Amino acid sequence: MKKIIIAIDGYSACGKSTTAKVVATLLNYAYIDSGAMYRAVTLYFLDHYVDITNPKSVAKALANINIQFHLNPKNKENETFLNGLNVEKDIREMRVAEKVSEVSAIKDVRVAMVAQQQKLGKSKGVVMDGRDIGTVVFPSAELKIFMTADFDIRAERRQKELLEKGELIELDVVKENLAKRDQIDTSRKESPLLKDKEAVEIDTTHVTFDEQVEQIIHLAQNAMITT
Ligand code: C5P
Repeated sequence: MKKIIIAIDGYSACGKSTTAKVVATLLNYAYIDSGAMYRAVTLYFLDHYVDITNPKSVAKALANINIQFHLNPKNKENETFLNGLNVEKDIREMRVAEKVSEVSAIKDVRVAMVAQQQKLGKSKGVVMDGRDIGTVVFPSAELKIFMTADFDIRAERRQKELLEKGELIELDVVKENLAKRDQIDTSRKESPLLKDKEAVEIDTTHVTFDEQVEQIIHLAQNAMITT
């Protein structure tokens, strides 16, 4: 069957990456977490005290950043490597979440990440999630999904995720971070988060995880036949 690109965009913490991972596994496709790339850049900027208001410092830092994904044979997950080091755990920390939207709003950062993402999807057979995958990275993706969920549900889900990774963060703090990221992600000048006109919207507030996966698989199978 024809290999396609599945672009999944949407707000933070509405289940994009968990869904995208399972969809990719079921279709035997690669899964690319574009948010992990912006998080890795942010981690580098934080650890190297990069002044994000100085375009020269940003350009210099970007030239020193190499991001790769490697499959961990133990848990079968694609993990993020920054300059050869596994940073999968570090990039999920709150200190990164607090800065990532500001870093992602920088044009040079986006240009560098989008070029890498396009390379990764060149041979198709890819599920990529993010904010601008269907609008900017792969505007001709055969299937575009836009995921949403109720704000309080998203905050509870994210708090649970952080707890599972060993960080106990108060719900109000999680909500504040999500609201701030939503605001920056939707209002920035460079590739703001918006629903592409071709995207199918899935509100995950009231559907089960299995239902949302099933719906995307069904849409993907149709797209493989009709596109
Ligand atoms: O998907 P995740 O929540 O890990 O993404 C972290 C942040 O990275 C987002 O809040 C957004 O600022 C940025 N991002 C982006 N474009 C993407 C993916 C993520 O700007 N394609």
